[in-house]
Amino acid sequence: MEKLQCKACGSISMVPMDVLGDDEENEPNASAPDQDGNSQTRFYTCHVCGDNWLSVKESHMGDHTVTFVHQMGMSPELKRIAHIEPPAAARSANVDYWEYYLDDEEISAEAWHDKLITRRKVLKSICSN
Ligand SMILES: [Zn+2]
Repeated sequence: MEKLQCKACGSISMVPMDVLGDDEENEPNASAPDQDGNSQTRFYTCHVCGDNWLSVKESHMGDHTVTFVHQMGMSPELKRIAHIEPPAAARSANVDYWEYYLDDEEISAEAWHDKLITRRKVLKSICSN
């Protein structure tokens, strides 16, 4: 199984899990290539510090997006949406532009990254104590 380095605590403990969306309930073969109207949700979680986020890949009407949701406990959710230039969908290197949200309010990229860095510092300090 693929493992990723956690950006909060640095351990190789991030494990992605596929989350079946409503679209895929009647479709056991969820590894089919993206079609128009498809969505794929993955949940990443770190077993060391508890950092986690969701990625939701969606494509419909020729618009390809990947939404990343960082859960913030009781605080608003940090969310950013990558708009991907077709036809090279699904490769983050080809992101056309990003939208950044705190809860449902659009915020600047700088403010968003500040909040993410603060969140990761908090997680790291919790797990190194
Ligand atoms: Zn971690």
